[in-house]
Amino acid sequence: MEIIRSKIFTQFPGLLFGMSTNRNGVSAGKFNLNVSFSVGDNPENVTENRRRFFSALGIDENIVAFTQQEHTSVVCACSTPGNYPVSDALITRSQHLFLAISVADCTPVMLYDPKTKTAAAIHAGWRGTTSKIVKKAIAKMYVHYGTKPANIVAFIGPSAGKCCYEVGNEVAKQFPDICVERKPDRKYLLDVKQANVIQLLESGLQEDHIEVHSDCTIHNQVYHSHRRDGKESGRMFAVIGMNN
Ligand SMILES: [Zn+2]
Repeated sequence: MEIIRSKIFTQFPGLLFGMSTNRNGVSAGKFNLNVSFSVGDNPENVTENRRRFFSALGIDENIVAFTQQEHTSVVCACSTPGNYPVSDALITRSQHLFLAISVADCTPVMLYDPKTKTAAAIHAGWRGTTSKIVKKAIAKMYVHYGTKPANIVAFIGPSAGKCCYEVGNEVAKQFPDICVERKPDRKYLLDVKQANVIQLLESGLQEDHIEVHSDCTIHNQVYHSHRRDGKESGRMFAVIGMNN
């Protein structure tokens, strides 16, 4: 099972992080290792894909908290597994509870604070990014758990890269200039990863506490990509949690 790992998180032995790809699944065609029940894939195959992925991670799906992502900026503090409707970010201080978000081009931002032993899984698409979901998650971690931003370590996962993520002016103008490159055809290339790095730094994270995975999901065939495959695109899980 191909699993994307983070370099920066490996220094913490009790911390588990993994992201699935579109490889090693049982679903037909491009769905392959699709983990979403809401994209038209066969539910039995999705169930088996999820079982395989969580088993490869070494955890049971029954101790995972899921979001019902709707491109909101709602952050849920959770202490039990199950579904958290209308949320795009989950935070926790519970051990043996794992937070999962699903993505296909949208940016997964995963946070861990070794001091308070707290974690967050954030689904930051362009909408969530413009509504500052990362900043809201960090603020909520401070309020609920006393998590200090300077102690947080962050991983920004594979997602739509500036090389491929073309948007119109109405989207581009909502981002800092440094995250946007204007093309000759009046379209724009957008760097959502960079926009989230800026939010992490503005929240008070230290620069050397941030790892950005360089892979772009749109042109790299290992990943599901909504931009590339449209309705035929599956979803991937990014999961974080603490074993002790
Ligand atoms: Zn690309």
